[in-house]
Amino acid sequence: MNDGFETTQQEYLKGFFAGIEARRSAAGLTLAPEGTAAAGAADPADPMRAAQDRVLASGGRLTPEEDAKRARHPLDRLDEMAVRAAGGVPPRGADVFLAKYHGLFYVAPAQASFMCRLRLPGGIVSAAQFRGMAAIADDLAAGHADITTRANLQLREIPPGNAVEVLNRLAELGLTARGAGADNVRNVTGSPTAGIDPAELIDTRADARAIHWHIMNTKALYGLPRKFNIAFDGGGRVPVLEETNDIAFTAVRVAGEVAYRLALGGITGHRDLARATDVVVRLGETTALCDAILRVFIAEGDRTDRKRARLKYVLDRLGLPAFLGRVEAELGSALTRVDAAAIAPRAALDRMGHIGVHPQRQPGLSYLGVALPAARMGSDQMRGLADVSERFGSGVIRLTVWQNLLVSDVADPDGARAALDALGLATEASHVRAGLVSCTGSAGCKFALAATKAHGVALAAHLDARMTAPAPVNIHLTGCPNSCAQHFIADIGLLGARVERGDETVDGYDLHVGGGTGTHAAIGRLLWPGMAADEMAPMIEALLRAWSDERAGDESFKDWSARHDDAALAARLQAGRPAARLGA
Ligand code: SF4
Repeated sequence: MNDGFETTQQEYLKGFFAGIEARRSAAGLTLAPEGTAAAGAADPADPMRAAQDRVLASGGRLTPEEDAKRARHPLDRLDEMAVRAAGGVPPRGADVFLAKYHGLFYVAPAQASFMCRLRLPGGIVSAAQFRGMAAIADDLAAGHADITTRANLQLREIPPGNAVEVLNRLAELGLTARGAGADNVRNVTGSPTAGIDPAELIDTRADARAIHWHIMNTKALYGLPRKFNIAFDGGGRVPVLEETNDIAFTAVRVAGEVAYRLALGGITGHRDLARATDVVVRLGETTALCDAILRVFIAEGDRTDRKRARLKYVLDRLGLPAFLGRVEAELGSALTRVDAAAIAPRAALDRMGHIGVHPQRQPGLSYLGVALPAARMGSDQMRGLADVSERFGSGVIRLTVWQNLLVSDVADPDGARAALDALGLATEASHVRAGLVSCTGSAGCKFALAATKAHGVALAAHLDARMTAPAPVNIHLTGCPNSCAQHFIADIGLLGARVERGDETVDGYDLHVGGGTGTHAAIGRLLWPGMAADEMAPMIEALLRAWSDERAGDESFKDWSARHDDAALAARLQAGRPAARLGA
């Protein structure tokens, strides 16, 4: 604890942490060796503690993360974080994990700083909040913000001394980062065009907001075995990728009524989409159902193996019917089940619905989808976007899972476009750029095997300079198997890999094809492992050109790739490989 501290600071910190340890001991919460955390004065109402007790009673060994959560509840550790911040001290060991409960990710060695991930239910933010976040980015972080694949914002390069002040400033804006990382329900997503989409069946805003606030106010729901995702699709134009979530609500029409259909257990990094159930839920009833599902997950999730701690594995073990039976017991009432054949098919999605000008259901109004290179905005652009949303719209900004944003309720789209243009922000994008998704990558994530954002921008620039893709095509670059950019559901999915070249390794990717989303949801297949990053642009160009030249009618890339075997597709890639490296 002598990281550059003055002697008096060291003494103060020593005393502070001694006090904490004394409190832990008094409560029976002394940190125990890994896997054997002592059973202290358990809160009988804490279902996490009860689940851990059952593991220990049966001779099981808790993971180190479970031990850390058991020693003292992570939400109660803000005092420890405040002391570290006061001394400018970075977290170490289990404290790196525990800080994520407050939305703070210490990302060393990629950067010796924190990233703060917020939570913005449904991705909806006011202009005032956007301006406030720009000020926080300037005052306490790197002066920019990134949009995530959960319609959320991240502030980056926060020095350890600023970490808690970021949380305080967010609270003053009516925002929070609580539970945005670690073993929690992550940002709740909803259709970005909720309430303005001419095609939607359900305005998802109220349900997304209700479960968000329920989680905020229910400490027991911060005791999950692992992270958990919830999404609401209103049936409109723009996909929200609910099929990739642990709980997926999809608006459907059934027997003349609208309701949400429930699907469970999506986790694309483990190659699984959410499995559809025959359960339908009315508007306003989703919070109670989510609460019941979460409590069964808390009780049944694996606390001995992090790799198998997601909801999918509970469903695999219990089976869907038994799991739903447990949920009914938790709810105290029967779920509503319907014949799947009675559910009307979903209306078509618009894969370019998040970019450009689109009419709203409100006559005379439009929303504008703004393209963001590498999903990043400078603080000046954030202030400018807030101004545009107030001057031309209703002061509302909607983030999407496609790492861009919408300005809604605009009566003068040409004027708004010109104002956005002056900020260096486009409302047009090619079929490639509109479907480009990248995780943070090695520029800011310690798990990354490749510079995903830089490679994605370079790839899109290469393709746009040489060809016009005839239809939307999604290219997702993800830096490691954590799959933040969901490479398995992309037309072309790139998973970071180290590629051998002589005695060295270089950035590269395992290339997958054939994934899909929404009504065409599918998990892609591995086509070309270990493609060097500096070779992939011309190779992917050759593949897309082949699709463009050979497609039958308006055949999508996904359908075209599905009717070719791996050898045929690999031959198209090989044809574009830089000549100098042929045979390498
Ligand atoms: Fe980091 Fe991996 Fe997520 Fe990319 S996919 S942001 S490398 S954890």
